[in-house]
Amino acid sequence: MSLLVLDGVESFYGASQALFGVSLAIEDGEVVALMGRNGMGKTTTINSIVGLVRPRAGNIRFAGKELAGMRPHRIARLGLGLVPEGRRCFPNLTVEENLLVAARGDEWTLERVTELFPRLGERRSQYANTLSGGEQQMLAIGRALMTNPRLLILDEATEGLAPVIRQDIWAAIRKLKATGQSILVVDKTLSELLPVADRCFVLEKGVTVFAGAPEALSPELQDRYLGV
Ligand code: ATP
Repeated sequence: MSLLVLDGVESFYGASQALFGVSLAIEDGEVVALMGRNGMGKTTTINSIVGLVRPRAGNIRFAGKELAGMRPHRIARLGLGLVPEGRRCFPNLTVEENLLVAARGDEWTLERVTELFPRLGERRSQYANTLSGGEQQMLAIGRALMTNPRLLILDEATEGLAPVIRQDIWAAIRKLKATGQSILVVDKTLSELLPVADRCFVLEKGVTVFAGAPEALSPELQDRYLGV
């Protein structure tokens, strides 16, 4: 059974339709890339999965359970860990406090997160609002991991960050993949994303137009669907 399956998902903002038929599947342990140019529906797809947008048609099944219509906190508890676009941490809590308040289950601990992101270990007593943007992004990922997610979802996690920090985040994604963590990734850096992805799905105007291995996403297809 697939970990996550979307089948013909249609979602709206008020009267305006954003998704017209999104289908994708993620198997346990896979890193899956969700791609497409700006405004094609990637974030709306993620919001539909986590319950922030309610699909009006189609199915979303996670670990065998139908998610459509379920409230976001219940969906999160099933094991979905979202790192939303534009990272969110508690600014007036320390790094350590931010991680501990997110803790659920015991697989991920403070120690394990700081092993993955040593910078967070060095700054564990600092308030989150004194961290750099990249460090806050690491903290946002750490917080999602502390919930012990069966599926980690990263929406533009490296956007707008300094190159060294981006490298650290990609290295962490590769390490997570090596441990068998399932991850859904939205990111514009194809040179990093394609090598780590097991499978790619491309959206155009709210429809899945490509599903396959990264090697099958030829330069022509990249140009057609992802070129600017
Ligand atoms: P980006 O990379 O720019 O975030 P995206 O692929 O994630 O793009 P979405 O943000 O999902 O795209 O947007 C899909 C469509 O839905 C776009 O036409 C966008 O204008 C519209 N949309 C997104 N958010 C809202 C909103 N809150 N209200 C109304 N329309 C929205």
